[in-house]
Amino acid sequence: MPIYDYSCKKCGVDFSSIQKSAEDSVKCPVCDSEEVQKKISSFNFGGFSSSGYSGFGG
Ligand SMILES: [Zn+2]
Repeated sequence: MPIYDYSCKKCGVDFSSIQKSAEDSVKCPVCDSEEVQKKISSFNFGGFSSSGYSGFGG
């Protein structure tokens, strides 16, 4: 069975759900909202270059 990762737009929780049918609506298990975003695993995210704090002091 295909398991997809979702992210709730309302409370921001990440969860996985089995899609039984293409027309099946997925709800958030936390806040029961239907405003969820299916996360695409095969997505090319670039590398995050975090510029850290250099000598942060008072
Ligand atoms: Zn939610």
